[in-house]
Amino acid sequence: MSDLLIKGARIVDAGREMAGDVLIVGGIIREVAEEIPPQKGIPVLPAEGNFLLPAFVDLHAHFRDPGFPEKEDLLSGSRAAAHGGFTVVSLMPNTDPPCDSPEVARYVLEKAREIGLVEVRVVGAITRGLRGGELVDMEALAPYVWAFSDDGHGVEDHRLVWKAAKKARELGKTIYPHPEFRGLPSRELGEELMVARDLWIARRTGARFHLAHISSPGAVELVALAKEKGLPVTCEATPHHLCLSREEADHPVNPPITTREAVEVLVTGLVEGIIDAVATDHAPHTDADVAAGVPGISGIETAFPLLYTRLVKRGTIGLRTLSRLLSLVPARIMGLRQRGFVREGFVGDLVIIAEEEITVTRDFLFSRGKNTPLLGWRLWGKVHATIRGGEAIYLDGKVKGRDFDDHRQVIRGG
Ligand SMILES: [Zn+2]
Repeated sequence: MSDLLIKGARIVDAGREMAGDVLIVGGIIREVAEEIPPQKGIPVLPAEGNFLLPAFVDLHAHFRDPGFPEKEDLLSGSRAAAHGGFTVVSLMPNTDPPCDSPEVARYVLEKAREIGLVEVRVVGAITRGLRGGELVDMEALAPYVWAFSDDGHGVEDHRLVWKAAKKARELGKTIYPHPEFRGLPSRELGEELMVARDLWIARRTGARFHLAHISSPGAVELVALAKEKGLPVTCEATPHHLCLSREEADHPVNPPITTREAVEVLVTGLVEGIIDAVATDHAPHTDADVAAGVPGISGIETAFPLLYTRLVKRGTIGLRTLSRLLSLVPARIMGLRQRGFVREGFVGDLVIIAEEEITVTRDFLFSRGKNTPLLGWRLWGKVHATIRGGEAIYLDGKVKGRDFDDHRQVIRGG
């Protein structure tokens, strides 16, 4: 946990906008003011002309570790997250072996801690081996995970989900469904049916549900109804479902990129607060996987620029709303405290954004996965620095660790 003084930024969080300086001491924001004089022994990071936001929190990413290091591992994924402006990432359990036991959860948490870039949180499997047949030992996993999910597959057995929900409620954990019944004539119907079922299980059990990657208009309607009834339910949408339509970006991903009309419904759901948060569903794959048509988008590094370019620059939502969707609400859904505002007493996790264009190239991506429909695209909103607990973990093209050891070498003063 470090000390840092950031000078001259346009500070934006979910609640306000102001020009000023931010002082972080011992990893915690000590002061936010129009002018804070330099302090003896505290390094200064100039941010004139740049936005300063709370660092982003990703509810939904796949770092493929253990099992598929050729796609991504905890180091390459952490570097990509830092480059994308994220300091907290919640990882899905579809690794090999899957995260259905305390041993795998501990491996992920310990390796991430050793790497020391972003803070990793873990989602445990609902069923053993993600096979949909038998519940994991939820009690044994509970100390390591904030939620349970078979992401990649919907759990089709109603009784299992019912049992998992009752147990999750007892343990104070969240059920995090991948809403999809397979084998129906319409994929949208498959999503809607599972959303409807899960909302009603939430209603009957009182368990907290957070629905992954909502992509169909019918699901938005159902969640709106659930919220009217006050059910303990939240949901997310991905940057690609909110910003891209099938007509302009034909790229295999599950759920698929949808039609222009459906995108409008999703964005309206976002504006109206029916969709609570944006989560990347960062799903890196190798070139060979891409050639074989494996679905997924490597998206953690383009999430902010895509949303900023498509939704903020076009005036659909303000930067404060985007900050709420990418930081405040995801942190609350995960149960993290003192995050999501640039305020005294809050965690000193911040991101500095330059009002500059980036070009998405293979080299731009720190992730091993180059599978994105955005290659060659120019987008606004360049992450200049990602600060975790007052320390730069990403700064101007470089990541802490391999690229620089001590942020004092690259930040003026100190
Ligand atoms: Zn999923």
